[in-house]
Amino acid sequence: MLAVNQLSHSFKNGVEATPVLNEIDFHIAKGEMVALLGSSGSGKSTLLNLMAGLMKPTTGSILIDGSPIEKMSENQLAEFRRSHIGFIFQSYELIPHLTVRENVELPLVFQAVKPKERRDKAVSLLTKVGLGEKTEMFPSQLSGGQQQRVSIARSLVTEPAIVFADEPTGNLDTKTEKEIIDLLIELNGTLGITFVIVTHELEVARRARRVIQLRDGRLVEDGAWAGETG
Ligand code: ADP
Ligand code: MG
Repeated sequence: MLAVNQLSHSFKNGVEATPVLNEIDFHIAKGEMVALLGSSGSGKSTLLNLMAGLMKPTTGSILIDGSPIEKMSENQLAEFRRSHIGFIFQSYELIPHLTVRENVELPLVFQAVKPKERRDKAVSLLTKVGLGEKTEMFPSQLSGGQQQRVSIARSLVTEPAIVFADEPTGNLDTKTEKEIIDLLIELNGTLGITFVIVTHELEVARRARRVIQLRDGRLVEDGAWAGETG
């Protein structure tokens, strides 16, 4: 499903290049739910953005369903991302002047899916995430947890191979956080969605079956959650 091979990344500031990721290697199988842990600045978002094709690595490769995404042209990558990759942001990134349903339909508009089919898919997913009654409301009329549910529905509407989430519960209170984690675990179980979730929250790490931990841009742990290692 996903293979990360000898992945390294540096950000260039003028002539200086700051290494942020160092020779990262791992594979993720279809249907896995993986928590990506590490302290602030350890490189989690950079790794996630590279895997989601939002930027290109300095060296190494990322294969999704066998396709090396770092070799794709901008257009190929844009197309591949639309059909294979879902992304959930900490800040939801919903479009305020579109209804909840229109937000979820949007990725299908880019795929030229017919309006009736788009609407049916969006409503069905919104029902799955518990928002069947809110489809015609606007994002600003929803709570943070509900907005994140919309964003989760949107990430799934194209039936992606894998969904990446960058601190999806970072803006939510503890109770809402737990509800969102429950939802992601349920979607992983019932729909077999493969999730990679960046988080500081030990609750996510405890409940994902696999934890990958970064420290200073290196992979230092990969396995079942075994408690805090510091
Ligand atoms: P995390 O998500 O684990 O907090 P990041 O991947 O955001 O970590 O950042 C890792 C390191 O890379 C940090 O030192 C950060 O300052 C640096 N960094 C992130 N993005 C950029 C960028 N666009 N330009 C330069 N440095 C960056
Ligand atoms: Mg981050």
